[in-house]
Amino acid sequence: MQYFSTNHTSPPASFKAAVLSGQPLDGGLYFPEIIPPISNDFLETIETKENDEIAFEVMRPFVAGDIPDDILRSICSETVDFPFPLVQVSPDIETLELFHGPTLAFKDVGARFMSRCLKYFTPNSSEKTVVITATSGDTGGAVANGFFGVDGVEVVILYPKGRVSRVQELQLTTLGGNVTALALEGSFDDCQALAKQALVDDDLKQRVRVTSANSINIARWLPQQIYYFFGCKLLQGDEPPVISVPSGNFGNICSGLLAWARGLPVKRFIAACNANDVIPKYLQTGEFKSQAAIHTISNAMDVGDPSNFARILELLGPDPSGISKIISAVSISDAETEAVMRDVFERYSYVMDPHGAVAYKALADHHQQNAGESGIFLETAHPVKFDAVKAVLGNYDVIPDTIQALYDKPDFGSTIDANYGSLKEVLLSRA
Ligand SMILES: *Cc1c(COP(=O)(O)O)cnc(C)c1O
Repeated sequence: MQYFSTNHTSPPASFKAAVLSGQPLDGGLYFPEIIPPISNDFLETIETKENDEIAFEVMRPFVAGDIPDDILRSICSETVDFPFPLVQVSPDIETLELFHGPTLAFKDVGARFMSRCLKYFTPNSSEKTVVITATSGDTGGAVANGFFGVDGVEVVILYPKGRVSRVQELQLTTLGGNVTALALEGSFDDCQALAKQALVDDDLKQRVRVTSANSINIARWLPQQIYYFFGCKLLQGDEPPVISVPSGNFGNICSGLLAWARGLPVKRFIAACNANDVIPKYLQTGEFKSQAAIHTISNAMDVGDPSNFARILELLGPDPSGISKIISAVSISDAETEAVMRDVFERYSYVMDPHGAVAYKALADHHQQNAGESGIFLETAHPVKFDAVKAVLGNYDVIPDTIQALYDKPDFGSTIDANYGSLKEVLLSRA
């Protein structure tokens, strides 16, 4: 498979080249030249297939030519070696829980797939690859965990100081080794802008092999399709579901759209946003205006300039009315999020994290206007990761042992100012 740049200036790249460079030098995002259809036969027999088999079939066309089948099989089994249950929350709403991986967020899927691809592509550890990652909270932990101890790979993580939860920060700063965690004085968008600057810095790229592990990178982005197929396998009934996706940078929902474009039956996607409503506004007005990120209790979605927007345009075309045929986008406030977390806990004893709660609320509102539709929302992280859950639900207090243990580990984190020169120095020193 070849990948072109959404800015159409840089030349196309193979899967391997696109993964190793992260982003084309023209500043676009890599996008597959062909949307490989999923066969009806595959969909009709999906209930009989194991998760690792589904993952293999879903990913195979995208890595064709660069990863042999036997290697891809083992990458896929390691990527999805934890449960992905579909859980009934309220009478007409189910949730696909994506948080049973090692760092308790859906980003484990992409990070595990990508780290294993990089390991396969860079067996020669004398030339180091530096993986730079901006995180609004969960990406960093998943990437750090996926790459920790991998020979020949150095990970540099940028996160907005004071704007990630305590558990998220500990997951970044307590590893050490080949993982450098940098708290940046600024927002997630500042982190992402600096990371992007590094990826298009020709001088840096001459001296160091540097790539990204954000959903910019196709090895992070593409495997997120896999669990949409798991959802399809687990759903009862013949009606295609409405799927509500808590969205920030729009990588997750964009993978779902790709799965749908390949033939996965989905009635509609709901892009559930918090106060950061660039895309809901775009669908209303036809104008894409990035804005400064607003700090909310669903902090991993505090993104004011969602980078996967370019891929949505590539998939669905530039016309907002065409996009609206398959996606609705809504903005849910913190007050609404807290109210629905409380309500669902009291009525159904289900504990939602703030991100899942945004998606639940968006789906429940959609059902109000579209009676009889069935829907699922994605629970993207375990509630223990967010301080807001305890603040809102009070008596909820279940801390998994793996999280408890983080509090006793040494802290290797440091801080950095929002200045590209400082970052470049760190990147050069890690190579
Ligand atoms: C990253 C993240 C999101 C947003 O996903 P995008 O792909 O950036 O839209 C939602 N929920 C949680 C818990 C996250 O960590």
